[in-house]
Amino acid sequence: MTDTRVDPAGEVVELCRDLIRIDTSNYGSDEGPGERKAAEYVATLLDEVGIESRLYESEAGRTSVVAQWGGSGSDASSDRGGLLLHGHLDVVPAAAEDWQVDPFSGEVQDGYVWGRGAVDMKDFDAMLLSVVRARQRSGRIPERPITLCFTADEEAGGHLGAEVLVERHAEELEGCTEAVGEVGGFSATVRGRRVYLIEAAEKGMAWMRLTARGRAGHGSMINHENAVTSLAGAVARIGAHDWPVRLTPAMRTLLASIGELAGTEATPENAEALVEEFGGAARMMGAVIRNTCNPTMLGAGYKVNVIPTEATAHVDGRFLPGYEDEFFATLAELVGDDISIEYVSNQPPWETPYDGALVDAMTRSILAEDDEAIVAPYLMSGGTDAKHFRKLGMRSYGFAPLRLPADLDFTALFHGVDERVPVDALEFGARVFDRFLDDV
Ligand SMILES: [Zn+2]
Repeated sequence: MTDTRVDPAGEVVELCRDLIRIDTSNYGSDEGPGERKAAEYVATLLDEVGIESRLYESEAGRTSVVAQWGGSGSDASSDRGGLLLHGHLDVVPAAAEDWQVDPFSGEVQDGYVWGRGAVDMKDFDAMLLSVVRARQRSGRIPERPITLCFTADEEAGGHLGAEVLVERHAEELEGCTEAVGEVGGFSATVRGRRVYLIEAAEKGMAWMRLTARGRAGHGSMINHENAVTSLAGAVARIGAHDWPVRLTPAMRTLLASIGELAGTEATPENAEALVEEFGGAARMMGAVIRNTCNPTMLGAGYKVNVIPTEATAHVDGRFLPGYEDEFFATLAELVGDDISIEYVSNQPPWETPYDGALVDAMTRSILAEDDEAIVAPYLMSGGTDAKHFRKLGMRSYGFAPLRLPADLDFTALFHGVDERVPVDALEFGARVFDRFLDDV
């Protein structure tokens, strides 16, 4: 069998470069090119190896691809239902003048593939396609039913991609009990050891508009009902609030591993010190051991000597699974009674227990390629398509394996300038994912 195997990492670099060259910038409006060209490319790649797929277009050019694969097995593994493997095809826009290379050239330089989407997430799309095509060509088709999903619009909330699939084409996802997508499986180096972080939870999101109403009047007179003053007070209180450390199960497990490396027991008191062990990744890790709330936009007034009737602010709140009530109660206190809160977007957090056969399979597949590794769960500060697929009751994880150099500030590359991924990390990821599929 081994000698007839097609290398699962054989195409991953070329596929990643090809996908980057198809500009799928998502502006959160109808301005962008859409995902259709990328979706057609994916469908062609699947078709070449005899996997039939379907394109779903929510709006003109906003296209997702779905394919059913495997599932021929009659053994016990199929009792666990289907496995959804999902990646998004869109990327955030890139301002070319800030970059060292053309962000849509897919150039290879200094051992990296450069371009928008290199880490978020055409890298994983390419891994998935390389592995699926190689396995299909070698006849190594999983017995567990697998649903492959390449979605539109993740970067603007997935309303024209994953959400549409869940709401209008749920038959494609029927029977899936578990889902694997971004943002996890990458390594961070702590005290010389590679720690692979599997996403097992995501924060919830509350985007809010605060409105203060007062009494309009002349800027030269006494006015105790100034909307600007009252809004500014609330904004300052929110921005300055020190949210207490709260550890969810995923972060408790992760920090226990980090504590072991650091020779100390992890507690809520030293959680911040342990997070600092992550170096660059501490920016994100520091945000997932507490609720956060940041004022981001302000609006009021039209003339310097006119006190306006109304002042508004936008606030970006993120809250941990299990700490929703505390978040909203604290927020209400900080805002006060006279200011109204309106939700622009409100999405719940989620956490999947870090246990079971799928977690074992992810762990084993990493250890088989990097035997010194530590594998642990973490909670992600942002949101992904997982929040939509979870509505159908799936257990979700982020697992796009990458073995990264210790000095690479990886989390800064997400939506960043000079986004790039090491060539050998892509090949590593494909090999790990191939092993994972042996075991699911
Ligand atoms: Zn992404």
